[in-house]
Amino acid sequence: MGDTSIFREIADKIKNARKAVVLTGAGISKESGIPTFRGADGLWKRFKPEELATPWAFERNPKLVWEWYAWRRGLMHDKKPNKGHYIVAKLEQIVSHFWLITQNIDGLHRLAGSKRIIELHGNIWRERCVSCSFRRENMEVPLKEIPPKCPQCGSLLRPDVVWFGEALPTDALNDAIHHSETCEIMLVIGTSAVVQPAASLPVMAKNQGAFLVEVNPESTPLTSLCDVSLKLKATEFAEELEKVL
Ligand code: NAD
Ligand code: ZN
Repeated sequence: MGDTSIFREIADKIKNARKAVVLTGAGISKESGIPTFRGADGLWKRFKPEELATPWAFERNPKLVWEWYAWRRGLMHDKKPNKGHYIVAKLEQIVSHFWLITQNIDGLHRLAGSKRIIELHGNIWRERCVSCSFRRENMEVPLKEIPPKCPQCGSLLRPDVVWFGEALPTDALNDAIHHSETCEIMLVIGTSAVVQPAASLPVMAKNQGAFLVEVNPESTPLTSLCDVSLKLKATEFAEELEKVL
């Protein structure tokens, strides 16, 4: 990778920060073998995620939406965290005030050892009832019952994730905004920065004076705002940063 000075600068800023935040998106899990939404391999049958990950699709055809989630769970369940997830977990050990904000629903950050995680879009391994307060973890692959029913009230269960057109969980969003506005450095890894409101978090961080680093092989709407934009895969970035931590 040649120039290590930029990685040294990032490592120093992280180590000296009172608060550091990492924001991740589907790109960090790509090298674990989980497709991103904005890639051709993200398609299932003839559907786009934007057509299935919605409350309206679930109302019209819960079985179809659950079949798609069953397919995604099948893709995810044997996948392992990669160096990208592990370096994020390591940063948490180094910085006293550290927060990971993720848009991912795959649970790989937790598997890699991260603890201070804000899951903005929920988790695909949890289900919740559409009518009552019932919630449960369900790691079963394949699912025995599609669509699954609530054991408490008999209504439909749905994946405990945030769909297009839905509000984010209030506590998670408020925490994410607070930490974005009060961090000294934010690393944005593997997000297309087009899904709101997550895409606004780096802008908030920057407006409050944070040093902004983007790690993404492609340019995004955020790139021009960043102090440093590294056109690298998450694992390549992790390898370089690891050397100087
Ligand atoms: P996205 O699919 O819109 O974009 C992924 C981004 O990752 C792109 O900008 C791409 O250039 C970049 N990328 C690709 N390979 C990379 C690599 N090896 N290293 C670093 N970056 C890489 O993802 P998003 O912005 O996170 O938003 C999409 C939504 O889809 C989110 O709401 C999320 O909940 C959901 N989603 C989650 C998963 C998951 O949990 N793994 C997978 C697909 C979609
Ligand atoms: Zn119920």
